[in-house]
Amino acid sequence: MAHVAKFRRVLLKISGEGLMGTREYGLDPATVERIAREVKSVRDLGVEVCVVIGGGNIFRGVSGASSGMERAAADNMGMLATVINALSVQNALERVGCETRVQSAIVMPTVCEAFIRRRAIRHLEKGRVVIFAAGTGNPFFTTDTAAALRAVEMGCGALLKATQVDGVYSADPKKVKDAVRYDHLTFNDVIARDLAVMDTSAIALCRENKVPIVVFDLHRPGAFAEVVSGQGLFTIIS
Ligand code: UDP
Repeated sequence: MAHVAKFRRVLLKISGEGLMGTREYGLDPATVERIAREVKSVRDLGVEVCVVIGGGNIFRGVSGASSGMERAAADNMGMLATVINALSVQNALERVGCETRVQSAIVMPTVCEAFIRRRAIRHLEKGRVVIFAAGTGNPFFTTDTAAALRAVEMGCGALLKATQVDGVYSADPKKVKDAVRYDHLTFNDVIARDLAVMDTSAIALCRENKVPIVVFDLHRPGAFAEVVSGQGLFTIIS
């Protein structure tokens, strides 16, 4: 079925683990390329695409802190991990013919641009995909919160959160056979029922600024273009 985009501009949040494929650590080039093609298919619909990528496939601040590191230093390492992932996805996107810019919340001018909101908007208007790296640039935050922040700042019509399953369930569908998938939830439902969608600060930011969150499964080929067109399986939180 031909897709007709429902949004002019979206932000896609991918966890670092989403780039691992079947590996236990790091990046799987085939998975990164597949995701790049998914992003290109949405860009080809005329949708402006922002991307935020986590770093959990390389380093998480909490695990560093649990083995004795100072939390802020460990979080800085986690943020640098997201830059590695961003550069990998940028490279894959450009190989499939999608012009891309990486903007980092931690400045590293020889590697990528610094985050400048108005400049990012200009890139999007020119049809470039913009990947926001290094989270919020602050320790003690997550890339989910960074995704919500950038989605709000960039005036995105939705934050699309790619997960391992096709929406939000009443329980983990991989463990509980009769877990129910929700088509729609309110932000308050998610917070009150403590549903594991994104962290509470991310949900609160989206609620306050009326940016819907769409939870979907990026593993299924074609899912990103479908969801942006309001088709396929997903949970919308608004
Ligand atoms: N991080 C941070 N500030 C931010 C975003 C991320 O300190 O604004 C660090 C934090 O240590 C986190 C790591 O970067 O554990 C990787 O991000 P995240 O855990 O959100 O990645 P994901 O789970 O999405 O792969």
